[in-house]
Amino acid sequence: MLFRSKDFPRERPHAPLCWDNVVYQEPGLGYVVSTHQDIRVTPPDQTVFTSYVALSDRTPDAARKWMMAAAPQELLDMASRDLKSAYGWTFAPCVDKVEITLRGHAMAAPLPGFRANAGLRALREADGPLLFAHADLSGFSVFEEAAWWGIRAAEKALA
Ligand SMILES: Cc1cc2nc3c(=O)[nH]c(=O)nc-3n(C[C@H](O)[C@H](O)[C@H](O)COP(=O)(O)OP(=O)(O)OC[C@H]3O[C@@H](n4cnc5c(N)ncnc54)[C@H](O)[C@@H]3O)c2cc1C
Repeated sequence: MLFRSKDFPRERPHAPLCWDNVVYQEPGLGYVVSTHQDIRVTPPDQTVFTSYVALSDRTPDAARKWMMAAAPQELLDMASRDLKSAYGWTFAPCVDKVEITLRGHAMAAPLPGFRANAGLRALREADGPLLFAHADLSGFSVFEEAAWWGIRAAEKALA
């Protein structure tokens, strides 16, 4: 869920805002601040907080059915839980706009049989004018894998 803010919420003195913020002992995945890595001395007037919620407390089938039927307010309540834990009532007045995106799939996972997946192998081995580079090709969503596939694609393009 994207929260476009018209102001930054106030942080506690001992817990300055980070790029990726996870609320201690909360089940949520936390929220990312889009302007955190800007190269500037003072923070901008506006930013975007992206909050992530995985419906991992239910089966994939139940999660998809819930998403299909959920009302906007239910989605908003779920997606803003971490932000409300962190900032309480002071968060809402900072928000200018909210966008909620629902995805019917989770992160790729390198489960048994992953390497034998023919479709993924075709993407990994593509060597034409169109090359593919994504962490999902490794089945493991980390920067190292994304960088590895990016370098491989660049080397193929330059060869
Ligand atoms: C909150 C959070 C925290 C994370 N923390 C870590 C961490 O600490 N360490 C770590 O290693 N990994 C971390 N990750 C995972 C890491 O961000 C991903 O593994 C990595 O970004 C994947 O890179 P990628 O290039 O494969 O894909 P992406 O970064 O998803 O890039 C895909 C790009 O394609 C673009 N795109 C999609 N569709 C289209 C289209 N049709 N046309 C044109 N462009 C399109 C997207 O906009 C995007 O820019 C984190 C992820 C999240 C969400």
